[in-house]
Amino acid sequence: DAVGAIAGLRAKLSPGGDVVSPRGRERTVAVFGEALTPLQVVDRILADVRERGLDAVLDYTARLDGTQLDRSTVTVSREEMAEAYRQADRSYLKTVKRVRDNILAFQSGILLRDATMRPSPGVELTLRYRPMRRVGVCVPGGAAAYPSSLLMTVVPAQAAGVEEIAVVVPPTEFGGYNADLLAACHLLGVTEVHRIGGAQAVGALAYGVEGIPQVDKIVGPGNLFVALAKQKVYGEVDIDSIAGPSEVVLVADWTAEPSFVAADLISQAEHSPGSAILITWEPDLIDRVAEALEFQLARLSRGDLARDSLEQFGALILVRDEDEAVELINRFAPEHLHVSTTDAHRLAARLTDAGAIFLGHLTPVAVGDYAAGPSHVLPTGGTARWASGLCSNDFLKRSSLIHVDRVGLERLAPDVRLLADKEGLTGHRYSVDVRLEEQDGAS
Ligand code: NAD
Repeated sequence: DAVGAIAGLRAKLSPGGDVVSPRGRERTVAVFGEALTPLQVVDRILADVRERGLDAVLDYTARLDGTQLDRSTVTVSREEMAEAYRQADRSYLKTVKRVRDNILAFQSGILLRDATMRPSPGVELTLRYRPMRRVGVCVPGGAAAYPSSLLMTVVPAQAAGVEEIAVVVPPTEFGGYNADLLAACHLLGVTEVHRIGGAQAVGALAYGVEGIPQVDKIVGPGNLFVALAKQKVYGEVDIDSIAGPSEVVLVADWTAEPSFVAADLISQAEHSPGSAILITWEPDLIDRVAEALEFQLARLSRGDLARDSLEQFGALILVRDEDEAVELINRFAPEHLHVSTTDAHRLAARLTDAGAIFLGHLTPVAVGDYAAGPSHVLPTGGTARWASGLCSNDFLKRSSLIHVDRVGLERLAPDVRLLADKEGLTGHRYSVDVRLEEQDGAS
């Protein structure tokens, strides 16, 4: 029962209501004096940040991240960023710049443009797009450094024309004290970086605290505490999505190279946890991929982590035929979908629910993760049924502009009057009548 198996994998990876790990529980007890669920932790932190502002943020940073910061050290100075840039490896900077250019070109190319129409005489309608003014970007930094996450969130916002971008990143060697990350910020023209992470950083951005004005939208990946906090503050500010653990589904036929398929499954599993699933109608391929997995896992530096993830959250699924594969994948709605078949474009046309689709044997997911142009911030956990990956258009808001002259008003007036009468809103009706009764109504 493939559907049941997949649902089981998802359930194992979902946040649930409990403290996630023994270490997480220990830390919670140490900070709050009792074992709370992640949601309870997030509620407490957010309420406290709302009440006490930056003092609460600094307290949680000391207690959860073990770093005592003050008003002068919590924000990275421009000199620190410029110095990190000066010291950085030139080839790294060149790569960051090239990737930035790729992302910028794609994200600028897809930007929505204002649309104006004149559906009838005297009526002019426009849908106008304008960038949000101030955006907060969460960059993870608890377990590893992620310059790629910085690029994949900041550059789409810049392409949209966002004026102010505030980056928050935990105060760790992988985060706010990571020279490569600070150098990348400098290269991208990011001038505001705060060394805070977790729910307290989301709270600071959502409510505004001393030195960190409230933002309009919070984007970017993070651990469970970041994800739950973003979910909680939605409504005060906009958010991109509530991201769960990463996942890939590979659909492959006899033309797929088993060693490529195995490498793609491992590259997702090494996120640890990360779910990696192969779906095929070729029994032979399953055996050959299993062999290739063994071979590669034994040789990779993160092989043990990936093996662990594959054993817990991985699957090699044999389906009857292509139709069954399509049905299964569309129900699963994976974050990443890799189509490794003879005519990948043809099959992809039938696959309607996925965050990002990688076509053909020579397009590993890593190309999209790091360098191509579309953002790697994608909907997880089946939300690709209705959600989409982050892009420059997510930093735009729409306004409708409506203009009618006397001819247009006369044309629309009967419908307005009738509906206003039905709803008993006499003021609405009068606002039309008073204009049409005027002999010299202004246009
Ligand atoms: P992170 O940087 O998102 O969060 C670390 C913060 O969590 C800490 O600063 C701390 O304040 C808080 N925290 C940790 N334990 C806590 C506890 N017990 N109680 C309260 N707060 C606590 O963390 P990370 O560990 O680096 O995780 C990053 C996540 O983001 C990983 O799951 C990674 O796979 C994911 N990620 C996703 C993408 C993507 O694009 N989808 C990219 C990079 C990373």
